[in-house]
Formats: sequence, structure tokens, C-alpha cells
Amino acid sequence: MDLRLTEEQKMVQQVARDFALNEVKPLAAELDKTARFPTELIKRMSELGFMGIPFPDKYGGAGMDYLSYALVVEEISVACASTGVILSAHSSLCCDPIYASGTEEQKKKFLTPLANGQKIGCLGLTEPSAGSDVVNLKTTAVKDGSSWVVNGAKLFITNGGQADIAVIAAITDKAKAHKGISVFIVEKGTKGFRVGKHEEIAAQAVGIARAALEASVKYSKERTQFNQPISNFQAIQWMLADMATEIDAARLLTHRAALLKDTGAPYIAEAAMAKLFASETATRVTHKGIQIHGGYGYTKDYPMERFYRDARITEIYEGTSEIQRLVIANNLLK
Ligand SMILES: Cc1cc2nc3c(=O)[nH]c(=O)nc-3n(C[C@H](O)[C@H](O)[C@H](O)COP(=O)(O)OP(=O)(O)OC[C@H]3O[C@@H](n4cnc5c(N)ncnc54)[C@H](O)[C@@H]3O)c2cc1C
Repeated sequence: MDLRLTEEQKMVQQVARDFALNEVKPLAAELDKTARFPTELIKRMSELGFMGIPFPDKYGGAGMDYLSYALVVEEISVACASTGVILSAHSSLCCDPIYASGTEEQKKKFLTPLANGQKIGCLGLTEPSAGSDVVNLKTTAVKDGSSWVVNGAKLFITNGGQADIAVIAAITDKAKAHKGISVFIVEKGTKGFRVGKHEEIAAQAVGIARAALEASVKYSKERTQFNQPISNFQAIQWMLADMATEIDAARLLTHRAALLKDTGAPYIAEAAMAKLFASETATRVTHKGIQIHGGYGYTKDYPMERFYRDARITEIYEGTSEIQRLVIANNLLK
């Protein structure tokens, strides 16, 4: 497998890096503090074609591949994990299911305004009593003439408050377990659709870990103890070396999964390995990042504590680490 980037992929990576550094990073601390939805960044990401990177231009997308998408999400997540997850929830959780399973009419009507960034999307799967165990969903959908009546409540939905279009999972045939779950495209303004209370915190793993490493390298060169920069101490160097090595491994796994998806090869186990390793790497790396920053890592004067909070959630949402291990093991044992 050739993991080298093409010229086009390098170009989109550079555009994302410049955008992240100049426009996203300056807002990151404020967005974390106020939990404000960054409408201005969504507008800019639409202009840059980031809201529909892997979807064909006939559906409003940028017509690029999933690897380019992974590159952009990493760059944006280095600057601001919340903005990274707004983009990935919109693209992977809402646009992708419509692209993969929608009818031509649904793709034209719903995917196009999502992929060109006119509209924002979300996925409503999780419920108060059904997280990992989706068969236990309580939301039902019942056919009523030519319509469906969907009834239930969702929680923890990224972009839920702002989404114009929601992909909602509901039980249509309880007896069929997993196979009895259907997804419905629900537009904002649909009768009975209501948004509940706002939750905080979100993230994307490789980008967060990289942000923690970059901050730690910088800090270790600036901070002096015993009349020398702490980067002179081997204990600090080893932590930095381990952080860099794990991040590279996580990125390679992520790129491999994206490449497999791009080529149409099976990728479920590889995607689970990437998700598992990258999110646990983010936690380990940010943990070390706090250690390197000493007491300052724990304060809000430095972004390290935010990186740690952002890293921790990546082990939980979009399938917990335990569920990723189940997917990998099932693949081995089938
Ligand atoms: C910030 C944030 C954003 C989110 N965004 C979205 C979103 O956009 N859309 C959406 O639908 N959901 C979203 N979620 C929900 C998220 O996907 C769930 O929290 C996650 O799937 C875990 O479900 P749970 O919280 O109910 O935990 P549970 O499923 O109750 O799990 C609790 C613990 O038990 C473990 N466990 C459960 N089952 C097994 C098993 N069979 N074997 C071993 N261990 C197991 C879990 O791994 C975990 O450690 C978000 C959550 C957060 C916090």
C-alpha cells in the first residue's frame, strides 16, 4: 500500500493547515470557554469546499477522496477539536450515510446542500438508554399512509442544535434486532422536531495528539529548571519521543483505513483499529503533555488541559474503545 500523499492531497493539506492556523486556532480557547457554535468558521469551511470533501461534485461535494478528508480533519483538529468534530460529524455521520444508502432523489435533495455547506447535518443515534447497545433503541418509526411517524428522544448529538438535516435511527421492526433499525432523514422544522439541552466538549484524535506534542516540544524548550531547559532532561525527551512515535503510528493506521475505503476494499476492522489506537494515543499523549507542563498543564493558562479533555471523549463517542475491540475481535474470529 502506497501511503505517500499525491500533489493534490498535499495541496489540500496545506490549505487546511493555513486555514487552521490563521482562522481556527485564534478562536479555539474562546469557543471552548463559551461553547459558542462557530458559524463564521462553518461559512469559511463551506467556501474552502471542506463540508463535502469526499463526495462527488454532482452532489455539491469537492470530489476528493477520504484520505484528503482525513488530512483536513487532522489539521483543523490540531487547531480546535470542537471545530474538527463539527466537520466530521457533519461529513461522516450525516452526509456519508445519505451518500452510501440514500436514493438518487435523496442525494440530490439532501446531500447537495449539506456537501456544499449551505446546510449542516447531524446523526441522531444515541438515546438515554441506548449507547453502545443500539438494538435497545426506543425511538420507533411507524408507517402512516404514505408518511412515517417517528417518535423518540436522542441525546449527545453533535451539531444537534444547529443541524438543518438530521439522520435519525429508529426501530421499524423490533423482532429483527439490528436489521430492524432504519434511518430517516429529518429536516429542521418538521412538525414535532425539537432540540433539547446543550452539552459541552468534543474532539478528533490524531489532530488533538499532534497539538499536544507541538505544545509540549515548545514548552519544554522554553521552561527552565536547574538552570537549563527541561528539554535537556532525558525523562522529558523520552516522553516526547514516545508521543511522536505513537502519533505517527495512529496517523498511518488512519490513512490506511481511509485508503482502503477510497479503493472500495473492506475496511471495517482497519477503521476500528485506527479509531481505537488513535483515540487511546490521544489520551496517552495529552496525559504526557500535562506531565511535561507540570502544574501549568493543569491550569487554563495553557491549552494542554483542553487537549486532555478533548482527547478523552474520542475514546467514547463514535463507538467506545471497548466496542472497537469487539469489532476487531469479531473480525478475527468470524
Ligand atoms: C461529546 C459527545 C458527542 C457525541 N456525538 C454523538 C452524535 O453526534 N450522535 C450520536 O448518535 N451519539 C453521539 N454521542 C454519543 C456516543 O456515541 C455514546 O456516548 C457512545 O456510543 C457510548 O454510549 P453510552 O454513553 O450510552 O455508553 P454505554 O454504551 O452505556 O457504555 C458504558 C461503558 O460500557 C462499555 N460497554 C458497553 N457495551 C459493551 C460491550 N458489549 N462489551 C464491552 N463493553 C461494553 C462501554 O464501552 C463503556 O465503557 C456523543 C457523545 C458525546 C459525549
